[in-house]
Amino acid sequence: MSNRLLIGSIIGTAIIGGYLLLNGQFTRRLINTSLSFQLSQKQEISNQSNQSADIKMPNECAGKLTPSLTEGPYYKVESPMRTNLREEGIPGAKLTLTGYVFDTNCQPVEQAWLDFWQADGNGVYDNFGFKLRGHQFTGKDGKYILETAIPGNYPGRTPHIHVKVNKVRSSEQTPILTTQLFLPDEAQNKTDSIFDESLLIKISDSADGKIATFNFIID
Ligand code: FE
Repeated sequence: MSNRLLIGSIIGTAIIGGYLLLNGQFTRRLINTSLSFQLSQKQEISNQSNQSADIKMPNECAGKLTPSLTEGPYYKVESPMRTNLREEGIPGAKLTLTGYVFDTNCQPVEQAWLDFWQADGNGVYDNFGFKLRGHQFTGKDGKYILETAIPGNYPGRTPHIHVKVNKVRSSEQTPILTTQLFLPDEAQNKTDSIFDESLLIKISDSADGKIATFNFIID
């Protein structure tokens, strides 16, 4: 009788143990499925946020050279290296201009040199100092970012931002692009003979002032 009991309890334990083991595997499988689902959701969310980042920072490149335009009379060499041209007391609403520098094969240009200069919100250039003047270099991804003021117009000219762009720090090896960027919806765009609509920046509103984008394509 005790032998039967012993055998019975061994079989019972084996059945219960087997059930728990199988059940444990099933539970683990459920957790794994749920985790992979969460991971795939996370991946999807991250893809979505990358997409929205791309909308804000379009990396469009048609491979066509950015047109050059006249330098004008107010360029000064040896501007300070900086990405933020906004200083205390400078007239003009905040504008953040950002984009990429590409070559004609649409490859990002690392260490491209960009030298910006412009009038303030009242249409006045600083020809004594370096207000609203500054140069910078792109990062590995060819990206630049400039914090500045929205320029005002001055006699004969619609609002614009001057810029020089070059592939290398030394400006001797490749041609320097000298051009101007324009703002959309400016009445004087229609009457300014220098204006070129392919040099319009794309502007949108943000909580932190106007955000604009423009991609350069250089030789
Ligand atoms: Fe100008």
